[in-house]
Amino acid sequence: MEQAIHDRQATGNGLATRSMPMVLMYHSVQPYTEDPYLVTVGPPRFEQQMRWLSRRGLRGVSTAELLAARAAGAGKGLVGLTFDDGYADFAEYALPVLRRYDFTATVFVIAGRLGGDNVWDPAGPRKPLLDAAQVRRLARAGVEIGSHGMQHVSLPAAHGALAAETGGSRRILQDITGQPASGFCYPYGHLDAEVVSAVRAAGYDYGCAIWPSEYAGRHALPRTYIGDADTSPRLWGKAVRHWLTWAHRGPGGARSRPRVA
Ligand SMILES: [Zn+2]
Repeated sequence: MEQAIHDRQATGNGLATRSMPMVLMYHSVQPYTEDPYLVTVGPPRFEQQMRWLSRRGLRGVSTAELLAARAAGAGKGLVGLTFDDGYADFAEYALPVLRRYDFTATVFVIAGRLGGDNVWDPAGPRKPLLDAAQVRRLARAGVEIGSHGMQHVSLPAAHGALAAETGGSRRILQDITGQPASGFCYPYGHLDAEVVSAVRAAGYDYGCAIWPSEYAGRHALPRTYIGDADTSPRLWGKAVRHWLTWAHRGPGGARSRPRVA
């Protein structure tokens, strides 16, 4: 009986839900003095975090690579690395470190704000976003480019703009990179049933959320926030928490649990 329920869950969302892959969520990597939204990791800390993964025998990969490997039964030791918002500092500070460890990653860019900055975060420093030429170069260098929507708005309130935010942004990115954009990342982690269906309908193969929810699965993958305060002991804590949440419980078991990010 229990197995039948698990089988149905696995079929229902196209992902074996008894264990969720570990996907880390980053934003900006650069030297900084002010970071009111806690979205920045300094380069030495980022290097330390990648080294920590490598020394544990783990390899950081793009979400698409992670899901494909799991589907082929080869996901052991892989951890998803995602960078939200498409900050220009990715190319300068994150990519060289990823290359050194032979890691890959997914960058979720905002299709309607390429070359702009983080206008949705009114306080704190302006952070430039990758422009179209930089996005194209990263895609050619093997970085997975996913969509973070058109404008960085909370999608449950987007109503008439939902199709443009999901399908419209996908078309723009595919035109820029010449590659399929298979991943979508929900701005602010906000989603509901209508938003998740719009992401599926737009042809995305997967969606990245932040917190576990009743939609947890291939189109609402929970992720683990990693910040500048995450030293090695804290990374251990987050890894153990992920394992305790997902290794023995499906999304149903996590519904009543507190938010993890
Ligand atoms: Zn964002």
